[in-house]
Amino acid sequence: MTDRKTELAANLAKVEERITAACGAAGRRREEVTLIVVTKTYPASDVRALSELGVRHVAENRDQDAAPKAAACADLPLKWHFVGQLQTNKVRSVVGYADVVQSVDRSRLVTALSKEAVRAEREIGCLVQVALDAGAGGRGERGGVAPDGIEELADLVAGAPGLRLDGLMTVAPLTGEYAGREQAAFERLMDLSTDLRRAHPAATMVSAGMSADLEQAVAAGATHVRIGTAVLGVRPRLG
Ligand SMILES: *Cc1c(COP(=O)(O)O)cnc(C)c1O
Repeated sequence: MTDRKTELAANLAKVEERITAACGAAGRRREEVTLIVVTKTYPASDVRALSELGVRHVAENRDQDAAPKAAACADLPLKWHFVGQLQTNKVRSVVGYADVVQSVDRSRLVTALSKEAVRAEREIGCLVQVALDAGAGGRGERGGVAPDGIEELADLVAGAPGLRLDGLMTVAPLTGEYAGREQAAFERLMDLSTDLRRAHPAATMVSAGMSADLEQAVAAGATHVRIGTAVLGVRPRLG
């Protein structure tokens, strides 16, 4: 193995241990939690090494970086998640490689995703991104819709050709009542997921938890954790 692959293997093993321990502490089975490795800012060679090490889900947050990387890794058995703020003029490109868009937060985006999914003859999984620090009717600074906007968007996704409503995603807020209270934030997301599943029983995905707070997310009931730094290292620039 290359030095880099050895390093990635060691980091993955540590993350795997953390997820297993968190599942044990929460009385959950390890299979209930899917690891998504966030490869943003890192090269396609890292994605390839991760795939060889058994990673099956990767995530990116900028189409400019993700599109060439996904093309370079098209031969690998990977599912690509898009987790960044998405402008409608990037939707056609993203639909070309993403299996799941986790950052659906406005109706215009749903319309654009649906149009391009139909055009590409693909089915795109969608998560409604929830901003727990946004006021009623508002949006988060880093994207996401306030909790009172979930239902309308979810119904829109569920009725849109080419799209599949998979569930909810959030990032622990840095401001507002949940600042510094990651587990409470993730428990709130779980409650919102329970509400959502009354109308949309198949929308079972709950994407929460990053390198610093995966334990709290698993304890709250997250089905997917999104881990960047703990696997790949501290990113060379903000991303
Ligand atoms: C970068 C990013 C992550 C991963 O964060 P780390 O702290 O590096 O684990 C997770 N989710 C989203 C939406 C991100 O942009």
